[in-house]
Amino acid sequence: MTESQLSSIPRWKALLAESLTTAGQLADHFGIAADKLAPVIKSFPMRINPYYLSLIREPGDPIWRQAVPDPLELNDAAGMADPLCEEATSPVPGLIHRYPDRVVLLATEQCAMFCRFCMRKRRVGSMTWEDRLDATVDYLTRTPAVREVVLSGGDPFMLDDGVLARLLARLRAIAHVRLLRIHSRMPCTLPQRVTDELVRVLQDAQPLYLNIHFNHPGEITTHVREACRRLADAGIPLGSQTVLLKGVNDDPAVMHRLMETLLAMRVRPYYIHQLDRVCGTAHFRVPVERGLAILQHLRGRISGMGVPHYMIDLPGGGGKVPLIPAYIVEKQPDHWVLRNFEGRTFHYPLR
Ligand SMILES: *Cc1c(COP(=O)(O)O)cnc(C)c1O
Ligand code: SF4
Repeated sequence: MTESQLSSIPRWKALLAESLTTAGQLADHFGIAADKLAPVIKSFPMRINPYYLSLIREPGDPIWRQAVPDPLELNDAAGMADPLCEEATSPVPGLIHRYPDRVVLLATEQCAMFCRFCMRKRRVGSMTWEDRLDATVDYLTRTPAVREVVLSGGDPFMLDDGVLARLLARLRAIAHVRLLRIHSRMPCTLPQRVTDELVRVLQDAQPLYLNIHFNHPGEITTHVREACRRLADAGIPLGSQTVLLKGVNDDPAVMHRLMETLLAMRVRPYYIHQLDRVCGTAHFRVPVERGLAILQHLRGRISGMGVPHYMIDLPGGGGKVPLIPAYIVEKQPDHWVLRNFEGRTFHYPLR
């Protein structure tokens, strides 16, 4: 390649092209044996871009666990490929219509880093969406109940700026679709993706909300702060989603630090997700009691804006429900007994 061709490639794409994708590359990088990892990567693809790789401090740390394959992925007999029955709630391929008013559009199958715990593990790394776009827009156009389209994937920011702009414009052109939302992990896993051009594309599609997936305070670097600053300065409302993961963030102090750091970046914590029972992820599972204990820890100790909802996505396609620590201790006809964040109880008169 010539110098000028090289410089015309955006930096984020150049970084992506240098990702580790094979057991051999991983073994060379960390000086570990490749033989146990190759079969895992064959079942569930690996991609660790050089930026996310640089966040790993030592084998087994919270960043490593999210990115580096583990032979335990092949030992999970209880998990299902599609526990949420997303395939059954797809009116057209790549679209999930479970709630009356909003749909999820799987905009791509690609990600800047393939998370080892991914809920869409069964399909990440395979097909393309552009052929399905006409059918998708057609379905949305004749389904006026849909008020919001959530772009997910894969990672929608893996699309080129021009492609993303065209997709957003086609969705914007559907009059009854009021809100657009993007769920992306790239401002966290490859913050170089947040270019001025991308920010302009998002500004042109307002009202558009962006939820970024963060799982650990170690993911927050000066690059990430800068990316969030640009997005927030451009008027894009930012939220975050976190997946509760064993050995990563199943600790009240870690979650506290994460939520506090996000708020300071103008990113509002939205959901903590209980991990779905997806095949190959059993070693990340955290008991629900632990999740509730984390929520209970946060409430009262951090700004209410920093306390996300703790959600379970019901198996069988029932949708998401929030789990809330028990603050109602007792219900009497004339009063309830309520527990505060410190565990003290109070009488609340009903009349
Ligand atoms: C999570 C999800 C949504 C969005 O739900 P919110 O609670 O509005 O964030 C919509 N559709 C499907 C299928 C989902 O899984
Ligand atoms: S970025 Fe999201 S879709 Fe991609 S692998 Fe991670 S969790 Fe899955």
